[in-house]
Amino acid sequence: MKTIHTEDGKVIEIKVNKQLFGKNNELAAKNLELFNKHNIHAIDVLGSIGSGKTSTIQQIVKYLKDKKRIAAITGDLTTTIDADRIKKYGAHVLQINTDRGCHLDANMVRNSLDQLNLEDYDLILIENVGNLICPGSYPVGAHQRIVVVSTTEGPYMIVKHPHIFQDATVAVINKTDMADAMDVDIKQLEKDAKAIKPSIKVVFTNAKTGQGIEDLVSALNI
Ligand code: MG
Ligand code: ZN
Repeated sequence: MKTIHTEDGKVIEIKVNKQLFGKNNELAAKNLELFNKHNIHAIDVLGSIGSGKTSTIQQIVKYLKDKKRIAAITGDLTTTIDADRIKKYGAHVLQINTDRGCHLDANMVRNSLDQLNLEDYDLILIENVGNLICPGSYPVGAHQRIVVVSTTEGPYMIVKHPHIFQDATVAVINKTDMADAMDVDIKQLEKDAKAIKPSIKVVFTNAKTGQGIEDLVSALNI
């Protein structure tokens, strides 16, 4: 049972069907085993459309490509825009077109892994479909999840999506150069994330220029 508090103090209770997610969780555990067997570290990258997931992945690839053998898996409804962007930075990229699907699931990721020679990689970056709601309920078996939020999304992105931050190791506050123009206080965003999950690491980036990527890589501990 999940409790939802509304603005005027009413409380609505909703039954959550846990079994619905059971099968995905099983497959996610298998993916994790597969990653571990091949000494691969896998990161699930979440965030809204336009938050900077692809740019963040590009910068991580650029920063680590001489130290790690990297593959990226990108989820997108119908386009290959993100995959094409990441390829240019030197990672092997697999594209999953989810058609109408609004999140990746463990089975889709497993199907992509079957197309990779896993011996060839140390790090796999998984770009989830751009939204902050349902991808949170479908773990794909990654070792960690990071959430990218940008200042252009306004001041409430974090407080309105607590569940996705509860399961994340790192919150990336992106487009910090736009904060003043958007009237967004990035220190408040950090406080919001820490209030949801005290152990979450918060890094500030401008993924367009690469600013903050060193901090992100060190927060990822890879
Ligand atoms: Mg993208
Ligand atoms: Zn979905």
